[in-house]
Amino acid sequence: MPEKKAVLFIVDGLGGRPTDMDGETCLEAAETPNLDGMASGGINGLLHTVKRGVKPGSDVAHLSILSYDPEEGYTGRGVFEALGYGMDATKGNIYFRTNFATVDGDVVQDRRAGRINEGQKELEEAINSIDLEDAEFNFKATNQHRGALELVGDNLSPHITDTDPHESGEKMKSCEPVTSSKEAEKTAEIVNQFIEKSREVMEDLDINDRRKEDGEPPANCLLLRGASHMMDVETLEGKYDVESTCVAAGPLYLGVAKQVGMDVRTPDGATGGVDSDLIAKAKTAVSEVDEKDFVFIHAKGADNAGHDHDAEGKKKFLEKVDEAVGYLLDKLDWNRTHMVFTGDHTTPVGYGNHTAEPVPVVFYGSEVRTDSVEEIGERSCARGDLGHMEGLELLPVLFNYNDWTEKYGS
Ligand code: ZN
Ligand code: ZN
Repeated sequence: MPEKKAVLFIVDGLGGRPTDMDGETCLEAAETPNLDGMASGGINGLLHTVKRGVKPGSDVAHLSILSYDPEEGYTGRGVFEALGYGMDATKGNIYFRTNFATVDGDVVQDRRAGRINEGQKELEEAINSIDLEDAEFNFKATNQHRGALELVGDNLSPHITDTDPHESGEKMKSCEPVTSSKEAEKTAEIVNQFIEKSREVMEDLDINDRRKEDGEPPANCLLLRGASHMMDVETLEGKYDVESTCVAAGPLYLGVAKQVGMDVRTPDGATGGVDSDLIAKAKTAVSEVDEKDFVFIHAKGADNAGHDHDAEGKKKFLEKVDEAVGYLLDKLDWNRTHMVFTGDHTTPVGYGNHTAEPVPVVFYGSEVRTDSVEEIGERSCARGDLGHMEGLELLPVLFNYNDWTEKYGS
């Protein structure tokens, strides 16, 4: 018997609504011969990635799909972004996502400082040069206005508010504790001190003088959001005895994968956007399948197009996904592999954000009891024999086909 392999393919924002494209969802409207083949040769259903009626953020949806209950220890997105940007995360420290922003007094004029694309190193060095009274910190600028902040110290708490008002034109917020714990109060004070001191050193940097002269918005403030810490959870290998790799480009997904102990790969050409090279991802996945037991491929662009209200863009991206699935169907050894294809939530192009409708899910491989579904789609998969399932059930169902799960009882 050959060694068994398992593959998970998640399309971010896969699901849609019938108002997407004149009575059809983008997925129903897209030309998807390979996904249709997978659906007709597999077993189909609908997946509520968190629970029925819950609109999932991508972070909690992915945790849930990877079989980690977000109710048990999820505190926010910052730690995943920090991990995804290549920071090491340590238990007890607090992590934030950050934006360089343009602030006048307390009013945020531009949440992204004109999507600044220069001088990030100068800003990073200046910010890292300040001293705080009760904690250490590391700040890392990444691409454009984005970055991550780590607060290092004892008795810190992630239970504090964002300083980011989430909209330009609004006043920036002071950081407040959301619980009455001493730790949260102390952490909020440290954050407010950090914001004040960092504003002082950012204001007079050469990069900002130059930007002001050129009429560009200066990067004179950092906005923080998503305060969180490492979750105290077992790795995937600890839970299921599988070695695994995540193939993705978006830092959030790389970070969630690292949190649960997966190796990560980002092939050249993978961008985390609609222009991503999905065949490059599929090729990397095929070579990782040789090395590892379990490979997770993430494709982001459908969600981006959904947020942008771009139905045509979402449909086109799903057709690219179909080609990548075709590559996998062609190259993987189906005598030993089971694969599941699904999404992390619905992102209808009309609404332009995540909604709670379940997403199609298809399991494929030699041990799967096929049903009568013949094409991929929200409504076609609803008629499949799997029925409705929840995110936490997905990996156990997939791994069961490979006989990797333990018996319950005797
Ligand atoms: Zn998502
Ligand atoms: Zn989204």
